[in-house]
Amino acid sequence: MSSAGPEERKGAAPSTVAYRLDGKIYLNITNRCSADCVFCLAKFTDTFRGYNLRLAKEPAADEILKDLELAFLDGPADEVVFVGFGEPTLRLDEVLGTVEWLKVRRIPSRLNTNGHGQLINPGRDVVAELAAAGLDAASISLVAHNSEVYNQLCRPIFSKAYRAVLKFAEDCISAGIRVTLSVVDLPEVDIEACRSIAERMGADFRVRPLLTPASGEVRS
Ligand code: SF4
Repeated sequence: MSSAGPEERKGAAPSTVAYRLDGKIYLNITNRCSADCVFCLAKFTDTFRGYNLRLAKEPAADEILKDLELAFLDGPADEVVFVGFGEPTLRLDEVLGTVEWLKVRRIPSRLNTNGHGQLINPGRDVVAELAAAGLDAASISLVAHNSEVYNQLCRPIFSKAYRAVLKFAEDCISAGIRVTLSVVDLPEVDIEACRSIAERMGADFRVRPLLTPASGEVRS
């Protein structure tokens, strides 16, 4: 599925909004982010498993739904996941509208996020809005076992981001959204301490391999 814009680079593959991998549909709705992770795949490549995730322009809400419908023409999907080369909650209204569209059709939805949603959208109750829209699950990037290592690896634009990530995850669980905390397998990260944080919170836990442009793994 593609949403190529006129400003797209000549000769490059069309940029991808909705794409299918391993029985799921993924939505890449922004390339902006509130962090600058040292391990971010977007720093090293425009593509992932053959899809060009470098957006020529951010898709409007109706363009997201159009690409989603086109992706469903290839068959049903286990789940629709907001992911890609950016932080989806920078486009909270588009996420909410899409989650509502999915809920009506009884299609499970998952938000892959850095957990900065409340910092990005002050004055709103982000988790309550996601829950009301019908979000089923959130994969939240914990990154590290403490704020010092978090800031070193994630380089967020916000101060006190680590505490906000933990609160975002706790609030999701309280709101009935299934949460997985994830970390990348890096030497700086105390994996077992991170696992304990997830267990104490009641979240699932996932250790992700470091992705490189040659990786075949899905970002989540
Ligand atoms: S939060 Fe995700 S998209 Fe943003 S810089 Fe980190 S890895 Fe990249």
